[in-house]
Amino acid sequence: MQAVQTRRTHEGADCEGASCKLFELAKSAEVKPAEVRIIADPPPLDPSSDDPAEDMPLYQARRKIYPQRVHGTYRRIKWAVLFVTLGIYYLTPFLRWDRGPNAPDQAVLIDLPHRRFYFFFLEIWPQEVYYLTGLLILAAITLFLMNAIAGRIWCGYLCPQTVWTDLFQTIERWCEGDRREHILREQRGWTAERVARLASKHFLWLMVAWWTGGAWVLYFADAPTLVGDLATLRAPFVAYLWIGILTLTTYTFAGHMREQVCLYMCPWPRIQAALTDEHALNVTYRYDRGEPRASVKKAAALLKQGLPAGDCIDCLQCVHVCPTGVDIRGGANLGCIQCGLCIDACDAVMAKIGRPARLIAYDTDLNIHNRELGKPSVYRIVRTRTVLYAALIAVVSLVMFTALIMREAQSISVIHDRNPVYVRLSDGAVRNGYLIRIINKRNERRQFQLSLSGLSGSIIDVVPPREDGRLIVEVGPDQTREVRVLVTDYALAPPPTSPVTFHLYDSQTGERAAASDHFRAPGG
Ligand code: SF4
Ligand code: SF4
Repeated sequence: MQAVQTRRTHEGADCEGASCKLFELAKSAEVKPAEVRIIADPPPLDPSSDDPAEDMPLYQARRKIYPQRVHGTYRRIKWAVLFVTLGIYYLTPFLRWDRGPNAPDQAVLIDLPHRRFYFFFLEIWPQEVYYLTGLLILAAITLFLMNAIAGRIWCGYLCPQTVWTDLFQTIERWCEGDRREHILREQRGWTAERVARLASKHFLWLMVAWWTGGAWVLYFADAPTLVGDLATLRAPFVAYLWIGILTLTTYTFAGHMREQVCLYMCPWPRIQAALTDEHALNVTYRYDRGEPRASVKKAAALLKQGLPAGDCIDCLQCVHVCPTGVDIRGGANLGCIQCGLCIDACDAVMAKIGRPARLIAYDTDLNIHNRELGKPSVYRIVRTRTVLYAALIAVVSLVMFTALIMREAQSISVIHDRNPVYVRLSDGAVRNGYLIRIINKRNERRQFQLSLSGLSGSIIDVVPPREDGRLIVEVGPDQTREVRVLVTDYALAPPPTSPVTFHLYDSQTGERAAASDHFRAPGG
């Protein structure tokens, strides 16, 4: 069973914080008993009956939202997260990290021409893309854990769409005023002042969007150099193209589409709904305490008559501050990004009328149900799924850390010639050709000794042959080198296929690497 209250829309109302006229009105209004419907099992479908959905339009026009400014704990948390995340995004390309003379000194760099990803002390080669896979797995499990503990924390505080939309809405309030002022200006129609305010808003939005696109391309080249090149129009065209694309997408998504991205484009709300359970904390209207809602005056009258009255005074402040226009009093909602701003708004109202805070709070429907039955609230953060997610995070982190500290500074791979697979020489010996790829991950030139095992009575030659006849391959700093080798087996009747292993040895450091393949002979 779930109690559901009727909703009221209130766009265009005359509101300003907890002390708005509406608030005063709500206190003195006539008692309007809240309608509480109990949802029972739905009746069976009757195919002969008219389906009301058939009469519904297929397209619902967007209802413009004017989120009202709010102060409080969750707003402060959101400010802190906004400054930290945007600061990281915009400033990271300018951080330096000394990797020696032969490597770039940008701390975080995606070096596409050389196919490298630098992250402080880490240098990821294309062959090591599994680190990226590991990071994505870690990110996904962390998201599941966050969801199991407190619902859509990611959506409400950390998602780039939320952060940039929050920033754009703040700029909108600077330029066009808070909710009431903004609505009144729009109702008055076009004036020179409104045009000027709108122009300044869109100019600032475009500036932020441009900085966002500009910061993104700085991750792909040396940031200070690229900034200079961009300013003097000497940067590559692709840099300008990406700045343009990201400026446009940021301006559109954060400025114009806002909650539409969360409601219609993002898959996470649907996935999240399937991953949650009854113990996950969510921003919840405590209807056990709030209903039946009534103005302060009428609630007092009701109580005097021995009738029930809840703490909600139906002031709609929680709806007005909501960036997605949701009335949280209607229960769990796909549009609710769990930002907690309605908690701040309602707390301010409760403080004003001298009632306890947290009529809206991080809570669970299960607790509400418990309280209605006279049972205590239960908060279970440690439970099977949270322990499982935490354990998975620990295991994946451990595997990645182990792989990281055990990664080798050199590697070798072998490709056998395909055509011909082998050659019979005039003296009866059999020869196979291979392409050996040697990777030196150090920022210094190294010499590797190449050898072969698995075939007795064979010789290995580097092509073209070296004058001193030694099988030493020199590889430059942070480079890959390919060498062609010929292996000749002088055995009288070699088996059709024999496993062989190529060995790489750095005599300076004693480090080794090996790669296996096969030696082919007639009869295979
Ligand atoms: S829940 Fe709080 S903020 Fe929302 S209408 Fe009721 S009293 Fe007002
Ligand atoms: S209902 Fe509350 S928590 Fe949900 S999005 Fe709106 S303000 Fe944020």
